[in-house]
Amino acid sequence: MIVYPDFKFRRFTEVDQTFLQTHGLTGLLVDLDNTLVGWHAMDIPNDIADHVASLRKDGIHLCITSNTYNFNRLRSIAGEFGIHFYDGNAGKPGTRGLLAGLAQMGIRPESAAMVGDQLFTDIRAGARAGVKTILVNPLTTRDFIGTKLVSRTLENIVLRGAHSRP
Ligand SMILES: [Mg+2]
Repeated sequence: MIVYPDFKFRRFTEVDQTFLQTHGLTGLLVDLDNTLVGWHAMDIPNDIADHVASLRKDGIHLCITSNTYNFNRLRSIAGEFGIHFYDGNAGKPGTRGLLAGLAQMGIRPESAAMVGDQLFTDIRAGARAGVKTILVNPLTTRDFIGTKLVSRTLENIVLRGAHSRP
């Protein structure tokens, strides 16, 4: 199943209130690694922390849905942001984490988007869950070696194809 993101941005900070309002989005399911923080990093970039705070102030609901197995780190980072999180491995490209996240936020799929840096997990899971999908560039080039070598190469091929479509 080839899947294309509905929207592409360079960084999560570009997914702003104007964009969300235009598309009727009030809830965001957000990937963790390389979307909100660097891969396996604990430090939240300042501009991302500010952006999350600003979205929350405007009443946007956020829920981290990550395929991590480091649950202590997940809880700690979600606590720092002060946002919902799926407390476990979200199982992307499966939909369990996303559907649970929507339920936690009390948001219907048509009012939500999945934001992430990987086509084959984040965007595919979002499409399956019936939410809008937003692909962002990975925050850092540090990555799980399998992701780097296999998924990124395939993603680039798929995205190049997307660009060349009429
Ligand atoms: Mg990621």
